[in-house]
Amino acid sequence: MKQILQHIKTSQRILVASHAEPDGDCLGSLVAMGMALIKLDKTITLFNPSPIPAVYRFLPGVKRIVTQIKAAEEYDLAIILDCGDIIRVGEDSSIVTQIPIVVNIDHHVSNTGFGHVQLIDTDACATAEIVYRLIQALEIPFDKAIATSIYLGILTDTGSFRFSNTNPAAFAISKAMIDIGVEPHAVAQRVFGTYSLGRIKLLNMALNSIEISENGKLSLMTVNRSMLNATGTSTEDIDGLINYARRIEDVKVAALIHEIKNGAGKFTNMNRYHVSLRSDSTVDVAKIAGKFGGGGHTSAAGFQIESTLVSLKEKIIELADDL
Ligand code: 5GP
Ligand code: MN
Repeated sequence: MKQILQHIKTSQRILVASHAEPDGDCLGSLVAMGMALIKLDKTITLFNPSPIPAVYRFLPGVKRIVTQIKAAEEYDLAIILDCGDIIRVGEDSSIVTQIPIVVNIDHHVSNTGFGHVQLIDTDACATAEIVYRLIQALEIPFDKAIATSIYLGILTDTGSFRFSNTNPAAFAISKAMIDIGVEPHAVAQRVFGTYSLGRIKLLNMALNSIEISENGKLSLMTVNRSMLNATGTSTEDIDGLINYARRIEDVKVAALIHEIKNGAGKFTNMNRYHVSLRSDSTVDVAKIAGKFGGGGHTSAAGFQIESTLVSLKEKIIELADDL
């Protein structure tokens, strides 16, 4: 922590970046860190490679996020948030690695330890918890906008204070943020209470796609391009669907396959897929994702794979044998 504080104090031009297909913690941490550094009169680029999901656009400061990184020479310091692996930043990760000092701030057990300085706390409920401590240590006052960002990160990454990463700090920091002016009901209404009709119809299709392994311990949900097209939804609307598959009685591991890119050509069924994994916390899904080249947390992890859908489904259903 001390080393990071020193780097922040001595750097003027700072890139703050987080992972593609952002979630609430990713964006909350990014915006909170960025707005805090602006208070220190730093020159800040807030970067995320993906479109901002509609449910997070209410976040004050989200408009400052750009999808373009300047040349590496334009920065003294890069702060990478919520990324288990530098490649999660997207195609521009090769630019980021050329910045003189790269700081890696994260809470994933599978973090690769990239960068020059690391602040990895796998006991933190969210990256936002670590960012909160950092802002405190920098003695930057929290305003309502920063507090809302921190609260959003904690709220979403703990699954509304329900997942196994929900720790005392989740409540203590949330209380502190509410004291500053965060309105829990207003945030919840934005994030969980305002879905498009298409998103609800996609939920219907996703529920219909659920398959269960023979021993009942694994559930599999599949979302393909045609479902998104039929409901007028996009990738951001897939967020959270897997929780329905996990809730099923006796299920220890839930998987959600979604198609991210069309494959090599029309004569092959090969596609690129993202697979999300969730567990009831008795199974380490970060380990399973790691075997496929991905990572994450004990109870929530993911990976990407080039495969045919049939063979990918087989591989996933087979995982049930070890449960
Ligand atoms: P999700 O399934 O919601 O995309 O991701 C669940 C968790 O696994 C998140 O904490 C995310 O950072 C991590 N994760 C998802 N996909 C990947 C991946 O391809 N590589 C790594 N290292 N982590 C991933
Ligand atoms: Mn996170």
